Amino acid sequence: MPSAVPATEPATEPAADPAATAFDQTPAGTPVEKTDAQWREELTPEEYRVLRQAGTERPYTGEYWDTHTRGVYKCRACGTELFTSNEKFDSHCGWPSFWAPLAEGTVRYIHDRTMGMDRVEVRCSTCDSHLGHVFDGEGYGTPTDQRFCINSVSLKLVPADDAGQ
Ligand SMILES: [Zn+2]
Repeated sequence: MPSAVPATEPATEPAADPAATAFDQTPAGTPVEKTDAQWREELTPEEYRVLRQAGTERPYTGEYWDTHTRGVYKCRACGTELFTSNEKFDSHCGWPSFWAPLAEGTVRYIHDRTMGMDRVEVRCSTCDSHLGHVFDGEGYGTPTDQRFCINSVSLKLVPADDAGQ
C-alpha cells in the first residue's frame, strides 16, 4: 500500500503570542508605548521626572557629565542606542554633551518655548522620552557646531569593553 504522507507539513504562520514582550532589545524603529503607570513602575522617581515629565537634572550632578569612557549611550527608558562616546565632547556645561546623535532618526526634535526660552527639545524617537535639548552655533569647534545637552539620567552607558561583541 503506497504511502503518500508528506514528510513535512507546509510551513504555517507562527501563532501570534500576545504575551511576548521585549523590554531590553527593542529593534530600532519599533515605537515603544507604555502607560503612565507602567513608566512610573519601571523608572526611578528621578528618571520618571526627567524622561517622562521633561525635567532637567541639576548640572554637575549627573553620572556622565564628565565621563570619557568609550562606549554607547542607550536610552534609559527603552534601551535604544542614542549616542556614542565618539561624539561626546567636553562642554563644561554640567551635562553630557554630544555634537551628533548615533544615527539620523534615533532622536526627534520638538520646538520648546517653555521656561521663557526658545529651545529645541530632544526626545528618543522610539519611546518619546525626554532626553535634553540641542543648541546650535555656540562655537565649540565640533564638526557640527551643535551641542546635544542631554541629562545623564536619560542615558545608560554601555562601556565598549562590556559590549560582549
Ligand atoms: Zn527611548
